[in-house]
Amino acid sequence: MRAAVYHAIKDVRLEDVAVPAAKPGKVKVNVKVAGICGSDLHAYHHGIGVQTGAPHPLSGAMAPLTLGHEFSGVVAEVGEGVVGIQPGDRVAIEPIMYCGKCASCRTGLYNQCEKMGFVGLNDDGGFAEYVLVEPYMVHKLPDSVSFEEGALVEPTAVAMHAVRQSKLKVGDSAAVFGVGPIGLLTILGAKSAGASKVYAIDVSDERLALAEKLGAIPINSLRQNAAEVIVAAGGVHVAYEAAGVQATIASALTAVKRGGEVMVIAAFAQPAQLNMLELMAKEASIASILAYRHIFPEIIALIADGKLDVKRVITKQIDLEQIVEDGLELLVKDKSQAKILVRIP
Ligand SMILES: [Zn+2]
Ligand SMILES: [Zn+2]
Repeated sequence: MRAAVYHAIKDVRLEDVAVPAAKPGKVKVNVKVAGICGSDLHAYHHGIGVQTGAPHPLSGAMAPLTLGHEFSGVVAEVGEGVVGIQPGDRVAIEPIMYCGKCASCRTGLYNQCEKMGFVGLNDDGGFAEYVLVEPYMVHKLPDSVSFEEGALVEPTAVAMHAVRQSKLKVGDSAAVFGVGPIGLLTILGAKSAGASKVYAIDVSDERLALAEKLGAIPINSLRQNAAEVIVAAGGVHVAYEAAGVQATIASALTAVKRGGEVMVIAAFAQPAQLNMLELMAKEASIASILAYRHIFPEIIALIADGKLDVKRVITKQIDLEQIVEDGLELLVKDKSQAKILVRIP
């Protein structure tokens, strides 16, 4: 079968690899659609987050390995001992690997597992025709949810977990700094949670146009001081930081009202500095999330009920063979892109 295999920085190869054999206790999924994520870009361009050098304690895998952690497909085979999942089931995969035994896992915080990893970064993932996953990762999709929407459940889970964990209440105002796929999905999430207005801050007019279509008030931070504009209008209750750089975290803090909150979603490549006196002066708080937990079924239900139109963040669909040039490379060059989906043959 064909697979997009990570070997090293800037070295992802389309290769013929063996179809994984079904194993007891595992589920073999025929992948249909897989999304390209910021984490895939971090892996491809910087070698960050991908398992290299030593095998992962849970999967035993290390590079070279197949990328792809946002995917949907059809169950091809179930290993001995797997119950409640049948071949032919349409599914979305929740790619978090966890041990189930550590203190975090035992209290339900499986995204905080000591050994936490991701299918597609710490084990072979979904940029391939077939992948083996754990039964606990499998979530069934109703017929009304397409494979494209199924592949978007994972990034939507990140955005919705951030909204859920934030202090946002019905009628509150919000700002989303950085409107890549996660930022756009956070706008959708904040709106569906009842935000009265949501500002969208970015440097790309194309992405801001997309944010505006989702109901946000666009601010291009190349032309305007976003924090000043927001403060002049009264500030926001919650600022979601989905860009991950010094300038945006500082603006986010300035943009929140007294008693407001900055919710950090983006992974920062560099440490950031914060004006703690500014934080203190208005009794603001800073919170963060790591991925998500206990939220896939709810998101699938919201999509199935037509309450969350996640398809609107898709800007391009490509074939697996094009993934390097038209996906991993393009996403860095072309800032008008948001979510690129990969069709698996
Ligand atoms: Zn992702
Ligand atoms: Zn654990």
